Amino acid sequence: AIALAIHSLQKTYNNGFEALKGISLEVKEGDFFALLGPNGAGKSTTLGIVSSLVNKTAGEVKVFGYDLDSEKTMAKMQLGVVPQEFNFNTFERVLDILITQAGYYGISRKQALERSEFYLKKLGLWDKRNEAARMLSGGMKRRLMIARALVHEPKLLILDEPTAGVDIELRRSMWSFLQEINARGTTIILTTHYLEEAESLCRNIAIIDQGRIVENTSMKRLLQTL
Ligand code: ADP
Ligand code: ADP
Repeated sequence: AIALAIHSLQKTYNNGFEALKGISLEVKEGDFFALLGPNGAGKSTTLGIVSSLVNKTAGEVKVFGYDLDSEKTMAKMQLGVVPQEFNFNTFERVLDILITQAGYYGISRKQALERSEFYLKKLGLWDKRNEAARMLSGGMKRRLMIARALVHEPKLLILDEPTAGVDIELRRSMWSFLQEINARGTTIILTTHYLEEAESLCRNIAIIDQGRIVENTSMKRLLQTL
């Protein structure tokens, strides 16, 4: 199956800036995919549109075949999103944040508790479950965002610069966690401006520059051409 299909996507912001000039892209189910490019290239705009945080100007987006315009609810059910900025209620407790999120997807309280425990343990946050989110360090908040995005077990996980500002040790443990999630069948797409991150994690990549896709290939081929 095709996890994500983007066709002729355009975004012009209200100030007239053309952030996306018609990009097309396909990510297959099971892939670990990187959207690479310099700052300002349009990576966050692309993921923002896929996760319904940004309105597109033109084009088509399908998530596991569900059209983001006409089948939005189904499209969103398939998706877990880790935006760059922390956007949880920092006064809410860690465990409650996950239970609340699971509730949006109609998951029973019992199952929500089981999954929350599983992901918080995996991400080293179980001991913090009763803390208010604002008490967590930056790296812990980042991991909480990932746990929250996974609690409804989406088929496609998208992460915008997941390891920005994270120290090297935590970065490596986040990488191995993401590899494990991918190995269990979840398709993953991330944006990064670190080639090293894409290199250690991703099978396929697209390079975006000034709102256009300038390369779309496998990581292996990209490394041969460098
Ligand atoms: P949309 O076209 O999706 O409605 P807007 O153009 O209204 O988006 O901008 C959304 C938000 O992004 C605004 O709050 C705006 O202040 C902020 N913003 C404006 N310029 C930039 C920029 N260059 N980078 C990031 N955010 C910006
Ligand atoms: P990247 O994630 O690759 O760094 P972005 O998608 O955040 O790039 O931004 C692409 C371009 O669009 C940048 O030039 C940015 O300044 C601009 N931009 C982002 N958000 C807004 C906005 N709300 N209003 C106007 N311009 C924006």
